[in-house]
Amino acid sequence: MKKTWFFDLDNTLHNASHAVFQFMDGQINRFVEVRLKVDSHQADRLRREYWMRYGSTLQGLIKHHGITATEYFASTHCFDVRPLLKFERGLVPRVLRIRGKKVLLTNAPHVYSKSVMLALDLEHRFDAHIALDHMQFYGVYAPKPSRRMLLRILAKHKIRPANAILVEDSPVNLKAAKAIGMKTVLVRGFTRYAVRKKGSYLSPHSAPNFGRPFYVDYCVHSVGQLHRI
Ligand SMILES: [Mg+2]
Repeated sequence: MKKTWFFDLDNTLHNASHAVFQFMDGQINRFVEVRLKVDSHQADRLRREYWMRYGSTLQGLIKHHGITATEYFASTHCFDVRPLLKFERGLVPRVLRIRGKKVLLTNAPHVYSKSVMLALDLEHRFDAHIALDHMQFYGVYAPKPSRRMLLRILAKHKIRPANAILVEDSPVNLKAAKAIGMKTVLVRGFTRYAVRKKGSYLSPHSAPNFGRPFYVDYCVHSVGQLHRI
């Protein structure tokens, strides 16, 4: 049976901790500052607080301030990613060596994920592209690690969980995938980069530890090692 690989985007296919996350944080802070009429310190505090509490700043802004996703993404995620991107050498041939269907599964909005995938020259090499915009139940966002959303995506694409593999840098998402019967691969290289690079972005959901959690089937440094699995 053909395997289907579900790939996360940020810090899985490229090194978002190098410059993209820092730039995006600045964009979000400025948006919060202007839109909520708060100073830069308050804006930064709110961005972090909502991100920690809800998994994304946007969900806090929707819940507490009536901000719309369209308005938020237009102000924070529409920028030229090309000068900020960093990724492993030979990424395209390395990804193409992986046998099976390839699907992008990212919690980022499509306007951003598409621009990154185009810049990586991967957009037209994947079989499907699932972004945050496509993860809604009755108008409410249900991104990873929603098990319900993962099951719905598998059902829609007629894929049995045992034939699906999630490739991710975020253990919390891998834990959810494992719980519904998917195989899991933890990508660690860019998280380790973020730990080493002082002041760089590190998600509270990332895994700087060195052991292999029970819900992770394989650990790799980068997606370039996946063809060995
Ligand atoms: Mg990620």
